[in-house]
Amino acid sequence: MSVEEIHPSYPIWHPSTQMKTSPPPLKVVKGQGVMLELEDGRQILDCISSWWVTIHGHSHPILANALYQQAQQLEHVIFAGFTHEPAEQLARKLLNHLPKSLTRVFFSDNGSTAVEVALKMAYQYWYNQGETQRTSFIGFEGGYHGDTLGAMSVGGSTSWWQTFQLLMFSIDVVPFPATFDRDPNVEAHEAQSLETITRLLKQNPDRYAGIFIEPLVQGAAGMRLCRPQFLQELESLARSFDVLLIYDEVMTGFGRTGEFFACLKSATTPDILCLSKGLSGGCLPLAVTLATEDIYRAFYSDDIHKAFLHGHSYTGNPLACATGVASLELLEQNPEFRAIEHQHRYYLEKWLIGHPKVEQLRTCGTIAAMEVRTEDQSSYFNAIGPTLRSRFLEEGFLLRPLGNTIYIMPPYCITPNQLESIYQAIRRVLDTL
Ligand SMILES: *Cc1c(COP(=O)(O)O)cnc(C)c1O
Repeated sequence: MSVEEIHPSYPIWHPSTQMKTSPPPLKVVKGQGVMLELEDGRQILDCISSWWVTIHGHSHPILANALYQQAQQLEHVIFAGFTHEPAEQLARKLLNHLPKSLTRVFFSDNGSTAVEVALKMAYQYWYNQGETQRTSFIGFEGGYHGDTLGAMSVGGSTSWWQTFQLLMFSIDVVPFPATFDRDPNVEAHEAQSLETITRLLKQNPDRYAGIFIEPLVQGAAGMRLCRPQFLQELESLARSFDVLLIYDEVMTGFGRTGEFFACLKSATTPDILCLSKGLSGGCLPLAVTLATEDIYRAFYSDDIHKAFLHGHSYTGNPLACATGVASLELLEQNPEFRAIEHQHRYYLEKWLIGHPKVEQLRTCGTIAAMEVRTEDQSSYFNAIGPTLRSRFLEEGFLLRPLGNTIYIMPPYCITPNQLESIYQAIRRVLDTL
């Protein structure tokens, strides 16, 4: 082994990256609105909200100010036995935007922990009531819920984690009725999925603690959409078989689907709801898991063992909560996110519909996606992904295809001209394939 390998000049080990084969990371010195500025002066348009978190654009002055003000007041305090104004404000504000049956807000730090909390909360909800046999969950093919072991287990159908198979608990996986514009088979796929779920619930009515789903859009699986009708049927199944319905809105929350939350857009109400990514406007790590009063009451007791004994050092961090409050206010005052779906449709039509290299065009709110036709199967490991990524970068666009799925998920401050420039770049790159 060379000295260089033992003492690398660049010590950072990057997430979700094969360090040997990936191009060296680009150094970003500044972010402003939808633009990122690199050390070498290049300007890159952030078309994916930096891993789906930056909803109002980079370095937003109102978020920066909220952070600065709060940092001078109280940067952090233990959240067991103590509370503070930013957390209380954020909790109340969130509840105001959500279905009335969700009444309780449990803080944590990121999407994966929000999901771990949901898993443990659902399990213990039944356990505290003597139903200790409800040890399993139903999840969907392609579901992604985070990178910690519990979250991996509920998203266990993906092939990323075959290394860890023996460490993960098993769940029952059912088909996800993924659909796209003018999909002739959507109803058949939905029926098949609902039948599978019904069969499982009938066979083992007491086995399941809950059903886990990313409502309306499966993100990491490749921006796979399902219809609101499907969620409505799923909700009534969960109710009639008395299992908890758990929504992972870590990605779909805060305007992504064109409505404040996917549960509102689909007119459905989960028993447990996970939020993170857009919660602090992309400023700081923060997450919440919301629950109904019925769930909260199952833990409310004189017995310490019935309490939800879960917590993280940075739970409810005041800086993150203060940016969360400011971010929600920005969202309330700036309804642009509702108009982006219309623009996506217009530019898809203008630049990409009928292009021989793409199929399965689809939009949901601020998200647009399509499959690039290749010889290989559609999948995250489709070799065209990295090629497309570097071609887009050369053009000045941060797009990070999931395998052969190209998707656009911009910060909401993007202008129509900037959005159109993304479509033109995609068109240019597709034309050269
Ligand atoms: C990103 C994501 C997570 C995990 O969130 P992290 O903050 O990355 O841990 C969980 N669920 C969904 C739907 C996500 O998109």
